[in-house]
Amino acid sequence: MRAFLPTPVPRETIAAILDAAARAPSGTNMQPWRGHVLVGAAKGELCAAVQEVFDAEAPGHRQEVQYYPDEFFEPYLSRRRKIGWDLYGLLGIARGETAKMRAQHRRNFQFFDAPVGMVFTVHRELATGSWLDYGMFLEKFPPEYECEIEEDTSWSCAHGVERWRSNCGCNGGRPFNQLWRAPLRQALDELRDGVAPLTEQEGNKLFKDVWAARDGYIDVVLNRAPEQTEQFFKTHQQHELSEQEQVRALELMEMQRHTQLMYTSCGWFFDDIGGIETVQIIAYAARVIQLARLLFGQPGELLEQAFLARMAEAKSNEAKFGDGAQIYRSCALTMELGLEQVAAHYAISSVFSSFAEETELFCYRVKRISFAIHSSGRGRLAPGQAGPAFLARRCRRLTAPFPARWHDAPHTGKMRCGGQRERTGI
Ligand SMILES: [Zn+2]
Repeated sequence: MRAFLPTPVPRETIAAILDAAARAPSGTNMQPWRGHVLVGAAKGELCAAVQEVFDAEAPGHRQEVQYYPDEFFEPYLSRRRKIGWDLYGLLGIARGETAKMRAQHRRNFQFFDAPVGMVFTVHRELATGSWLDYGMFLEKFPPEYECEIEEDTSWSCAHGVERWRSNCGCNGGRPFNQLWRAPLRQALDELRDGVAPLTEQEGNKLFKDVWAARDGYIDVVLNRAPEQTEQFFKTHQQHELSEQEQVRALELMEMQRHTQLMYTSCGWFFDDIGGIETVQIIAYAARVIQLARLLFGQPGELLEQAFLARMAEAKSNEAKFGDGAQIYRSCALTMELGLEQVAAHYAISSVFSSFAEETELFCYRVKRISFAIHSSGRGRLAPGQAGPAFLARRCRRLTAPFPARWHDAPHTGKMRCGGQRERTGI
């Protein structure tokens, strides 16, 4: 028999159920359903209204969408009667007790006392196929398993989660120690905690809630279309942000994104701090520091000093790497890219490629301001000026004039190419 406990259902559970059900297949993926979730007073009001209609229903009332035929016929009539009498029998309602039957029927319209009522609708103008899809949507993904997560356990470390913070003995198999894990973790934690208050201080001028914005930024990470960024600002900005404020806001979000990337699991997983996975998370830290310096100035510089002091405690097993601070300088900082490097890349490439007025260069969009190319013998000179297409990508303004020079060296068969640092600043 159907009855429900009044225990409230957490909002997240309802959202998870709907999220799973929304993956049900439908004809040409039309997803012809709409869900309405009702709790509390809203549920009460709807139930009262529907029951009022039920109570006042005139005989012969015809539903807009018929579930059953007007006249039942065999063998369906007998089957229907059997199930009806069986069910009413379980409730102690005998044949012929129509008032009691009707009272029981009425309970449908109060969701049999369930604390959450969901109503699903399908557009009137859709046809029978959509009704099938709608049924599948309702039935496809009922909850099947329940699991409990035991905190601080993992499948790949018998010591809990020590693999990600200490010399627990789990590694990739080389005869190395992992004493470097603890100071590395500490260095990253300190960096994370060092940028957090600066993020709040700066972020509170730009966002309603900087941490909610940080969480919401995932939508921008997943889709960097300008409209998505626009939507992100609409949702989170504290006031209408100027272009410059938008740039700062996005830099702040990128910095926070990289504080999260620093904790990528494989950075701790293997044998040595000089391994490519660990160097990668140190590079994420370098990006955090780069943006912190850009956004906060002196406090950003101080973060780097503190970070390096802690990283020096993380010793590599291999002499060529030294320690974490050395790896930061020799491996991570050499990956650092700024707009100057983008401009240099553009300048050098422009000798060989004819770029459109605006062009995509990796994740950048570069706008040409002026450009010419001169050839003399085996040499070419391409003076020009370019900058980021500011509105398309929202990055800092930088206009880089460049003379890019190229000539081939006939004796070696190699080419030489470069800009002039003194004149261009790139
Ligand atoms: Zn372990």
